[in-house]
Amino acid sequence: MAVSWEKDLIQRIGAEHVRFDFESRSRLSKDYYWYSPVLKKRLDDKIADSIVFPTSESEVAQVLSFAAERRVPLTVRGAGTGNYGQAVPLEGGMVMDMSRLNRIKEIGDGYARVEPGVKLGILEREARRKGQELRIYPSTFEKATVGGFVCGGSGGIGSITWGSLWDGNVQEMTVLTMEVIPKKLKVSGDELLHYIHNYGTNGVVTELVIPLAPRVDWAQSIVSFPVFEDCLLFADVLSKQDTIKKRLVSVNEWPIPKYFLPLKHVIVEGHAAVLLEIEEASCIEVESLAEKFGGKWTFYASAVNYRKTLGLSNFSWNHTTLWAIKTDPNMTYLQAGFDPDHFMEQSARIKTKYGDEVLLHYEWVRNAGIVMPQALPLVLFTSEERLYEIILFCRRIGVRINDPHTWRLDEGGRGDRFVSMWTTKLENDPLGLLNPGKFGEPQDCLG
Ligand code: FAD
Repeated sequence: MAVSWEKDLIQRIGAEHVRFDFESRSRLSKDYYWYSPVLKKRLDDKIADSIVFPTSESEVAQVLSFAAERRVPLTVRGAGTGNYGQAVPLEGGMVMDMSRLNRIKEIGDGYARVEPGVKLGILEREARRKGQELRIYPSTFEKATVGGFVCGGSGGIGSITWGSLWDGNVQEMTVLTMEVIPKKLKVSGDELLHYIHNYGTNGVVTELVIPLAPRVDWAQSIVSFPVFEDCLLFADVLSKQDTIKKRLVSVNEWPIPKYFLPLKHVIVEGHAAVLLEIEEASCIEVESLAEKFGGKWTFYASAVNYRKTLGLSNFSWNHTTLWAIKTDPNMTYLQAGFDPDHFMEQSARIKTKYGDEVLLHYEWVRNAGIVMPQALPLVLFTSEERLYEIILFCRRIGVRINDPHTWRLDEGGRGDRFVSMWTTKLENDPLGLLNPGKFGEPQDCLG
């Protein structure tokens, strides 16, 4: 498909920074939206007219300037591992691939200053080499970029201690606006909340400063429980035990563990499984705590083997869903926030109503300082109507659902910040060219 601005774009940014071929456009216009049968149906045919590959901030500015002059929509892409079509261009135009802005500029005491295309896995290794580590990262860290995580993700491994992205886990961003002469903004403090998890709708991030934590010797283990309720109680008590350092407490009711094919030799048939990353020095204490709740260790990897053999985080967060889909392509998922004081009753009500149609998978996190279970329950998909009936039931019993079957920010869980994000959008993207269609309409939220 030829576009009227093809030659001008090549002239402006150079042929080596742009692709128009179908294979590149098609591959780089997609993310993991297909986790959702609802999104799959609606996004499969979306494709950009061109892909641009800037290598520096000044090249990003040139692309933005061109897009604003010619009124070309622009969608930013990190590694394209998002689950809601965040990086899918709904209205064609350009996809700007940030993978060539991949320099770690500085690792200081307690922070890293990076370009947005740096992969989180590379940054984690580099930080650990220097006695530090990432505070939080998604289970896709080997592929995902820092910019993509901050603009499209929420939390992950480490969130049990450090919370989500908006809990002080971004210190500063440099953002370019979508204008003929792009402005360069330094964003910090509360203003960051207008940019975190906003799908690149308010500007293009060209540099980030993220806090680092001191390095910990992490051991990994799997604990099996014959009774699911005991497994939940153990996870809750362990998660609230502040003297034990933790990176991951991931709980799966049976039959979810059977989807983890590479772990099959350490999975007990019929048992719920908790995947743990805990400080090695606390392992004996955690093992005896597990025993009190009827749990048994079936796998242990000491800190020297951290990430050298099996990485348990590859079975946590939304990787759990991926393993389920590999076995049963009819599986999809929800994102749920349980009441920390009533999650046992809420879980029981969901199981009574839906049985194995909804399988419970929790990640314990710190949310605004309170340690609580969040869940990525698996759902056996039959129809959109049934999916939304399940969502409605969860909401009725007080379980918060951030709908992962929509690409719209206001519907997917950023409704709370929508009004302030909208004000920033009007200033930074007055022509409405950044990732159009993702923002929703202000009147929907302004009432
Ligand atoms: P992309 O998907 O490329 O982009 C995400 C969004 O950010 C897009 O809207 C894009 O336009 C925008 N963006 C990217 N770069 C910039 C920039 N420089 N400036 C402005 N906007 C930008 N997410 C979690 O939070 N936690 C998890 O544990 C987790 N687990 C996952 C497991 C699996 C198996 C899968 C498939 C997904 C998972 N995700 C998770 C979702 C996703 O992997 C992460 O959020 C990841 O960090 C996204 O990074 P990315 O580089 O792939 O971003």
